[in-house]
Amino acid sequence: MKNKLKLLEREKKYFLNTYNRIHLEIHHGEGVYLYTSNGKKYLDFFTGLSGNARSHSHPKIIKAIKDQNEKFSHLSNYYITDIQIEFAELLLKYSGMEKIFLTNSGTEAVEAALNLLRKKYGTDRKIFSLTNSYNGRTYGALSLTARGKYRKSFEPLLPGINQLNFNNIDDLKKNIDETTATIFLEFIQGEGGINLLSQEYINLLKNLRDKYSFAVVADEIQSGIGRTGKGFAFEHFKFIPDIIISAKAIGGGLPLGALLTSGDYEDVFVPGDHGTTFGGNPVACAAGKVVLNEVFENDLLSSIVKLGEYLIQELNKFKELYPDKIKEIRGKGFMIGIEIFGAGKDVVDQMRERNILINSTNENTLRLLPPLITTKTEIDIFLESFEKVIEDFQPNKLSFK
Ligand SMILES: *Cc1c(COP(=O)(O)O)cnc(C)c1O
Repeated sequence: MKNKLKLLEREKKYFLNTYNRIHLEIHHGEGVYLYTSNGKKYLDFFTGLSGNARSHSHPKIIKAIKDQNEKFSHLSNYYITDIQIEFAELLLKYSGMEKIFLTNSGTEAVEAALNLLRKKYGTDRKIFSLTNSYNGRTYGALSLTARGKYRKSFEPLLPGINQLNFNNIDDLKKNIDETTATIFLEFIQGEGGINLLSQEYINLLKNLRDKYSFAVVADEIQSGIGRTGKGFAFEHFKFIPDIIISAKAIGGGLPLGALLTSGDYEDVFVPGDHGTTFGGNPVACAAGKVVLNEVFENDLLSSIVKLGEYLIQELNKFKELYPDKIKEIRGKGFMIGIEIFGAGKDVVDQMRERNILINSTNENTLRLLPPLITTKTEIDIFLESFEKVIEDFQPNKLSFK
């Protein structure tokens, strides 16, 4: 206990004040559970913001990391490394794309995409993102990130980037034409509150792309690698993007991101146009290769579909029981939002009291990102606690905007 306070105090003293840290000192993780230094066990439906998709301390990931570390942990991209190629081949295979650039993070992959598209189209043609989107915090990525709370202290941002209203057909028709270079999309928005694009919107987008040939970039950083019950969220919409950005889960808990391209976008970069020292780090690629094999080769997807449907169905029963507390359940697979009438944070705190870790986003949406290996047993543990918390929850209609 004393130790825990000390850590938090030291954090306050030495770190720039960017995070509201959770008051838990995690000692280790195993499977879908996290254990604190004082021996408490937490069911982790937060999963490192989906960065630990395949669960904690997975023996195959540990072995892959160890084996690679014993050979070499870093060479720089001046060298070709076998593990980088093996990882890239798998990710290309499962994404359906043709070429790849590896980074250390999602944001860096977004920046790489922006550079590639600005080189391809110049700065005269426009780039769009959608309202409520999240694409990262560096200058280029933040120019795409639509949410005002992230942008307002840093404006003006990159010129030539504008936001379209999410799922708004008229806005799309009105703004997209031959001057369009690119649209960045999260087919299922994460940070923005687990919002799904409509099939109608995507169909129109498809027609407009045929007519004006611009790039559709799928930001699959949160929604990719099986999270929604398909390899990538765009697959739910029978749409093929021109460019995919992937990160979070692909590194098996280590920092790794990827820009994946197809067709006209393959030959835009030439040597010297872009680079990174650590991007595609061999140890991260070794972990990532295990993740891809486990997610795509071990029939994990069908279990995510089945259990995701079960979870959503049970949550909808709670919504019917408590229509004054729960507004809407949204999501696919293991990427689920529960919009409540009140501050999400209050429910997150109550769930933590019951040894279950979830997250809230966009003020009033509870975000569930269970590990991809979650079974019905853990979902039932979650549901049992959630029902008790919701039963006691006092909706506070003033606590959100
Ligand atoms: C997390 C996230 C990012 C940023 O990725 P980092 O790895 O944090 O840099 C970008 N887009 C989406 C949709 C994300 O969820």
